[in-house]
Amino acid sequence: MDNCLFCKIAAGEIPADKVYENDAVVAFRDLNPQAPTHVLVIPKKHIATLNELQSGDEAVVGRMYGAARDIAASEGFADPGYRTVMNCNEAGGQTVFHIHLHLLAGRMMHWPPG
Ligand code: AMP
Ligand code: ZN
Repeated sequence: MDNCLFCKIAAGEIPADKVYENDAVVAFRDLNPQAPTHVLVIPKKHIATLNELQSGDEAVVGRMYGAARDIAASEGFADPGYRTVMNCNEAGGQTVFHIHLHLLAGRMMHWPPG
């Protein structure tokens, strides 16, 4: 999609600190990290919000979680644990309208989240 920041990162048109990539997803470090490790996992396919998820997109969302699992294992925080979050629309705190899974690790997470 034109004019989508995360589509441009996925396409390599805008630089990002990529940590993982396969045929379905790309993951890169968040510019404004909220934990010692803060990675964003995005699908290569443009999906604006969770509300726009279509039948057939479930596999891509599964691939996003599979990437989170693999990054947690390779970066060594699978056992201590981590948090995955997907924000949706304004009330959910979404600011970039291409779905992304936040992967946060390296500190104790609190509940409920703010
Ligand atoms: P959200 O508020 O859930 O939509 O999350 C968007 C995230 O994207 C925020 O945590 C931002 O810090 C992050 N972000 C925005 N632009 C970039 C960028 N160019 N590279 C990496 N992370 C970014
Ligand atoms: Zn996009």
